Amino acid sequence: MCGIIGIIGSEQAAKEVYVGLFTLQHRGQDAAGIVAYDDGTRTGESLGFHLWKDTGLVDNVFDETQLARLTGSMAIGHTRYSTVGSSTDKSVVQPFVLNFPYGIAMAHNGNILNAQALSEKLRRERRRHFLSTSDLEVIQNLFADRLAEANKDNLTIDDLATAVDAVYANAIGGYSVVATIAGQGLLGFRDPQGIRPLVIGRRKEGGRDVYCLASETSAFSFLGYEPIRDLEAGELVFIDTQGRLSSKVLRPNPKPAPCMFEWVYFSAVESVLEKKPVYQARLNLGKGLAHLVKKAMEKEGIKPDIIVPVPETSRIAAIGLAEELGIPYREVLIKNRYIQRSFILGSQEKRTRAVDLKLNPVATEIRGKNILLVDDSIVRGTTSLRLINLVRNAGAKEVYFASTCPPIRQPCYYGIDFPSPEELLATNRSEAEIAKHLGADRVIYLDLDSLQEAIGLPKVCMACLGGEYPTDIAAGKEFARKRSSDRGRDVREGAKP
Ligand code: 5GP
Ligand code: MG
Repeated sequence: MCGIIGIIGSEQAAKEVYVGLFTLQHRGQDAAGIVAYDDGTRTGESLGFHLWKDTGLVDNVFDETQLARLTGSMAIGHTRYSTVGSSTDKSVVQPFVLNFPYGIAMAHNGNILNAQALSEKLRRERRRHFLSTSDLEVIQNLFADRLAEANKDNLTIDDLATAVDAVYANAIGGYSVVATIAGQGLLGFRDPQGIRPLVIGRRKEGGRDVYCLASETSAFSFLGYEPIRDLEAGELVFIDTQGRLSSKVLRPNPKPAPCMFEWVYFSAVESVLEKKPVYQARLNLGKGLAHLVKKAMEKEGIKPDIIVPVPETSRIAAIGLAEELGIPYREVLIKNRYIQRSFILGSQEKRTRAVDLKLNPVATEIRGKNILLVDDSIVRGTTSLRLINLVRNAGAKEVYFASTCPPIRQPCYYGIDFPSPEELLATNRSEAEIAKHLGADRVIYLDLDSLQEAIGLPKVCMACLGGEYPTDIAAGKEFARKRSSDRGRDVREGAKP
């Protein structure tokens, strides 16, 4: 997953994007970048694109000197989370800038399943030479190739729609894109299934409209943008340099499939996606779990004394769960706020121990009690295994583990790092086997219906939970190969424990 943002019409577009990236940092910690476009009207000298990007957290990538260089009234930014490509490979750090046609700066969130085949096709048929393994380069080339045909001074929404349509017609996957086109404006579009999010907000500056496109509404409030709406599935939105907004739905989709994991884990808890507040969804997830816990209490005699969230993501769900059950909620796993990343711990074995380093148990509150741990998800099982051990070592009597995400059994091809089935703990294991593997007295997963109900949309993408993939996945095998060969063993470290 990644965070993307674009702003047009602000005197300090890059600075706003920079601030916005902090509010999207949770979506990716591997790299960050901003490209601003200056039309030269203020200083003349600084006409053109100004780019700064590097691996690392937003705070480490930028300082005042670089930010001061990023002049102009439109800018886009990116925070990177690696699914394909190593987290230390600098050639995949976004945004990307292409000089032709017009000059196109672009950033994206998501994955293209058939990126490999498309890049070969573009190489063969259009003589394109690729400089990275990034899906973005493929999107950008598909788009640019078609946009070049417009060849006029002022691009219209129809010209842009034709170019976006070239992406939709070829790229299979889940993706949201923001782009600035030199001298023309800011563009955003969302994949035809609406898998990855993109929202639009507006504020006034000196009587003019300033627009912001972002992965989540969390980017809006500090910067003073009012959320307008989510882009629809298969829709593009364009704001020209005069501040005129136009949009077009190219692939009307009555039943889009936004990724359920945005509500479960990924999005900031203060964000609202598809009119469904993440906070409310997480409370509901906890309440849904409460029914299942209650059943296990009645039928199997489990008896939790306290409900313990795994910080940070599962906190709200654990509150909902505790409220519903009337069992005390206790924050007794204390997150060390000074440990940002565990990349210094090179091997898998050490990385496993990073959980212990990041979370300290309050033994005095745990000793002798039955603990119900609540987390948002179990992927490989690394976190849950360590935490159960940690709580046991702190003197817990019985340990139960509840996950607001149903068992993850299939890979994600749309931007989330759910790898091959063999690496996923829940594949081919029953709940009892999972509990045994993790050393828990009981494992309780939310069910698919309650998940869907908690989010409250008619349809969400639940492909990784054994649901339907909303796109063709014929290229999935190739994608999986690329995923495992491209990237080092260095992903999944930066995010929340
Ligand atoms: P596991 O340790 O089972 O492999 O992963 C589950 C834990 O990782 C949970 O605590 C969850 O909050 C977190 N998690 C879930 N998805 C992701 C992700 O995409 N990236 C990272 N870094 N952590 C994740
Ligand atoms: Mg976690």
